[in-house]
Amino acid sequence: MKTLKVDHIGIAVKNLEETLKFYEDVLGMECTGKEEVDEQKVRVAFLPVGDSEVELLESTDPEGPIAKYIDKKGEGIQHIAFRVDNIEQAIETMKEKGIRMIDEKPRYGAGGAKIAFCHPKSTGGVLVELSEREND
Ligand code: ZN
Repeated sequence: MKTLKVDHIGIAVKNLEETLKFYEDVLGMECTGKEEVDEQKVRVAFLPVGDSEVELLESTDPEGPIAKYIDKKGEGIQHIAFRVDNIEQAIETMKEKGIRMIDEKPRYGAGGAKIAFCHPKSTGGVLVELSEREND
């Protein structure tokens, strides 16, 4: 497997529109799209910056993973995603090396990427997402 770059940083927020003001009006970044990911019960706003992007995540359901995260830890950085060249191979490598995977098989995340999460207990406390995109 090859890890190519930081794909995005996932930030859990209570209110997408409110938080966008900071990123757009203060930092001058541009939101290039919003998407609802039903499976994750989340609404995502994409803010590309340089070679990676910030993804703001607002829960669409009080029982969703982002709502639960905010209940426990408050708003803030929820996960870091690394772009890999081959996600199936990356998952195999992780398992071979004893890394606990939340997703043993890739699934589809925001923007049509194939993604898989590694358990924070195996990664030094960070929820790490592996991400592969077709166009790369
Ligand atoms: Zn993500």
